[in-house]
Amino acid sequence: MSHFRPSMTRRTFLSTTTAGTVLATLHPFSAFASAGQAHLRIMETTDLHVHVYPYDYYSDREVDTVGLARTAAHVADIRSEATNSLLIDNGDFLQGNPMGDYIAYERGMKEGDMHPIITAMNTIGFDASTLGNHEFNYGLDFLMKSLAGAEFPVVSANVAKTLGSSPTEDTTLVPPYVILDRMLTDGEGNAHPIRIGLIGFVPPQIMNWDRRHLEGNVSARDIVATAKAYVPQMREEGAEIIVALSHSGIGPAEYTDGMENASVPLAMVDGIDALLTGHHHRVFPSASYNGIAGVDTTTGTIHGKPAAMGGFWGSHLGVIDLMLERDGNSWRIAGQSVETRPISKRNEDRSITALVESDQTILDAVATDHEETLAYVRRAVGKTAAPLHSYFALVADDPSVQIVSIAQKWYVEQMLAGTEHEGLPVLSAAAPFKAGGRGGPEYYTDVPPGDVAIKNVADLYLYPNTVRAVRISGAELRDWLERSVGIFNQVEPGKADQVLLNPEFPSYNFDVIDGVTYEVDLSQPSKFTPKGELENSDAQRIVNLMFNGSPVTDDMEFVIATNNYRASGGGAFPGAKGDTIILEAPDTNRDVIVRYIVEQGTIDPKADANWKFAPLPGTSVLFDTGPAAEKYIGDVKGVEIESAGDGPDGFARFRIGL
Ligand code: MN
Ligand code: MG
Repeated sequence: MSHFRPSMTRRTFLSTTTAGTVLATLHPFSAFASAGQAHLRIMETTDLHVHVYPYDYYSDREVDTVGLARTAAHVADIRSEATNSLLIDNGDFLQGNPMGDYIAYERGMKEGDMHPIITAMNTIGFDASTLGNHEFNYGLDFLMKSLAGAEFPVVSANVAKTLGSSPTEDTTLVPPYVILDRMLTDGEGNAHPIRIGLIGFVPPQIMNWDRRHLEGNVSARDIVATAKAYVPQMREEGAEIIVALSHSGIGPAEYTDGMENASVPLAMVDGIDALLTGHHHRVFPSASYNGIAGVDTTTGTIHGKPAAMGGFWGSHLGVIDLMLERDGNSWRIAGQSVETRPISKRNEDRSITALVESDQTILDAVATDHEETLAYVRRAVGKTAAPLHSYFALVADDPSVQIVSIAQKWYVEQMLAGTEHEGLPVLSAAAPFKAGGRGGPEYYTDVPPGDVAIKNVADLYLYPNTVRAVRISGAELRDWLERSVGIFNQVEPGKADQVLLNPEFPSYNFDVIDGVTYEVDLSQPSKFTPKGELENSDAQRIVNLMFNGSPVTDDMEFVIATNNYRASGGGAFPGAKGDTIILEAPDTNRDVIVRYIVEQGTIDPKADANWKFAPLPGTSVLFDTGPAAEKYIGDVKGVEIESAGDGPDGFARFRIGL
């Protein structure tokens, strides 16, 4: 099936879109192509992560920022502006939202089953796709059964079932490349054949990230080395234009063997004419990629070659326009332009405006899967033996923080198995996200014992962060905690009813570190300001910091499981400035918590009281939390707490004896 649409007139023509019949404006390349010149438009989706409906299944509500149904509406318009076009997906389509989990964990893929993202892609009409790293998350059998329904070729050159002596000798998992035989309509309306080569690449890190599925079954090769081997072969087979489907970010300019974000060195490979990039969940061209040698964020080129990255979850279409010219018996690129088309815009007041309506045919195609996913997120996927609430998360070790720590530690230990970091103690850092404050007295996590639904996991972990691990010293660990306990005001020993919390300090920067025990001496000043600047270099609030019952010394080494925000400098934590990262995991913390609950069946995240306030006899502090906290007051361990009446603005007040 070809998606090349010959133009009806030279400059403009009537086109029916979701907005009704409009006069489409042709791209200049289509409008002004002469005989022997043809406009080829290449559209890209990337990192869809099963987002078809404009819907956030975690919060169970419609959103305007995601969904292939929205992107598809753009596709219809954008196709109508060009004489010839291709639509390509750049990978990470099979996993990453509750619909993906529902199919993998609940419904399953049997021979002949259709995966909803594939159904949606078939409905729009893709010309090709490549594999992203997340295609491997549910195992090879699940992947191959899902791909079987695709009415478009799926290519990936650097994943092999058996390795040969060189990349082109490998037996690849899916075809390494495809050469599409198409007819191009030129400026005079005459059709000419063209052979377009598409070759796919995925980060070789899949071998670590999905070790349990992949080890012994497939091998992954370096992206650039694989490209250098295959591209000449594609030319020999007659490819006139070659597009790299690089499920890899726009990263370092310098090539290193096995690099994850290889799109810049990849662009230097002779014979590649254009690149579709992804994996980073960012937009190219955009200023977010300023400052990388060889990358031009104004023209949208890498080493002079057109390149696009269409955001993630269907947020944008990447669009590369090529003006092709007959050159003897072949085609050459005579002009190029690159842009992206967003499906929504963020207004100055942070509200979101949709820029396009959903394409109803796409919604209809997966309506049943959508309904089933809604039922899935609303029903139990596991059970909790302990209540998961955050009412006391800022004053005592807490189950809602504990479950996050447990799941992160469980995941990071698996990820580090077989690496040089295996065997180091893995601690876990987590902070309460929903802990009142400006969110108000209802803004707490509160899941009673019993069923846990996917919706509840969003409540436990508010942000779509991804897991990171850092490797730090005992000294850095101590300072990480000193930074964290800056949330508390300094108190005067022997005095009653002092205000405990500094309202300037956001709860998401109050990291509790699980796996060590420690006490917080509130009589001491904070070492760091609420923003993380060193304030009192000699101050020490963290006392009795112990690992396995022995004091933590400065030169001990620890791995801390955390998230991308913290590990790359968010909150300015000592030991977490980006240079200590040893694991950049592909999975979100939320996905990891879901996976942990699904695999465990019943969870029992009893807080283990690994941190508490150091005793200050005769001293008490006041702390405000949600009034619903009252029912859990007996559960709080390691702290002496009593009700102290009403706080302001609907909060309840509690007194803690130190
Ligand atoms: Mn992705
Ligand atoms: Mg990826």
